[in-house]
Amino acid sequence: MSKDSILVINCGSSSLKFSVINPATEEESINGLAERMGSSEAVLRWKINGEKGSQALGQAAHDQAIEGLMGLLREEGLIDRIAAIGHRVVHGGEKFTQSALVTDEVIAAIEDCIPLAPLHNPAHLLGIKAAQKFFPGLPNAVVFDTAFHQTMAAETYLYAIPYELYEKHGVRRYGAHGTSYRYVGQAAADMLGLDINNSSIMVAHLGNGASACAIKNGKSIDTTMGLTPLEGLVMGTRSGDIDPNLFNFLNKSLGYSLERTTEMLNKESGLLGLSGMDSDCRVIEDAAQEGNKRAQLTLDVFCHVLAEKLAGFAAAMGSVDALVFTGGIGENSSIIRKNVIERLSIFGFKLHEQKNDETFRGKSGVITEEGSTVAMVVATNEELMIARDTQALTA
Ligand code: ADP
Repeated sequence: MSKDSILVINCGSSSLKFSVINPATEEESINGLAERMGSSEAVLRWKINGEKGSQALGQAAHDQAIEGLMGLLREEGLIDRIAAIGHRVVHGGEKFTQSALVTDEVIAAIEDCIPLAPLHNPAHLLGIKAAQKFFPGLPNAVVFDTAFHQTMAAETYLYAIPYELYEKHGVRRYGAHGTSYRYVGQAAADMLGLDINNSSIMVAHLGNGASACAIKNGKSIDTTMGLTPLEGLVMGTRSGDIDPNLFNFLNKSLGYSLERTTEMLNKESGLLGLSGMDSDCRVIEDAAQEGNKRAQLTLDVFCHVLAEKLAGFAAAMGSVDALVFTGGIGENSSIIRKNVIERLSIFGFKLHEQKNDETFRGKSGVITEEGSTVAMVVATNEELMIARDTQALTA
């Protein structure tokens, strides 16, 4: 059996997502996740050839989850097809401008970035170490969410705060969703017959976490997330941009602690906080269509903030070849896309209502009229991008 596939691992603190992908054929032979890691009810779930399976892992942390995954891949006859393992890593700071093969130095550099991603990077490191232990002999690679944005200019990534905070403590804008942007930007250019190295593409990645990116000549020149994923767009439960003095205001007026306001901005705001209903865009869209005014207002705030950021990107890029929607909301919500595109008519966008309405559930394609500036949907595939990078690094 040929070693034609890559095991892609996205390791969080309590869950671990995995898939086995052949980067050449783009075929995914299995995917799944280990959930509730760290509790006594950890469970491994997977889907292979359309069939679902699960296995209780008992009291399992990262080591046991990866050991269980190894057993599953052996039972399913997939283990001999795996040539290498690719790990998603949230934060590579300024050290990583592209994906890398795992070495002791790379592990140390990911450890150095822990202050920038205190919840994610430690979990990624546990996953990498467990993979090295249970798949000895297989090379490991790391693919960073931040790396793609390392091409941003200093004028774009710096905050106007004392410069020492950047120099000594790395306080700057880093962005996220970089792997998605790289995949979607290239896919959009390919679909439109554009040379990515001579193009201006803006991408809105709208999921539970949401951000947007300006890709000029294949490089990120601006993005909406900042030091942390809280900055920028309205998200499922995150506020996006606010006046930072809110911390002080809520402390003085309501006695909110630093932790309380941080929790509120990250977990109780965004679509959930504004609508008072749900963080899921579908629930709010349904309510708005039934005439609920606050639900409509929530969608309008979401689209207003996004349209303003995209207008800024268009100005920074100097031209727009395409606006691309991706992520759960971007790929499925014709309502959000229409709302945003109508706000951007100054850039020459004219929505094709029928194409917009018919593009959802993984379908990609242009959703604007002939002669319009192009807006389109591209279904993202971060796992495939990780598999491609891993193969390129380990070939
Ligand atoms: P994550 O950021 O967790 O990866 P996804 O990219 O999977 O999130 O996006 C999840 C979100 O996509 C859901 O919360 C939901 O709001 C939205 N979504 C999915 N399907 C639809 C739909 N048909 N209409 C509107 N929103 C949708």
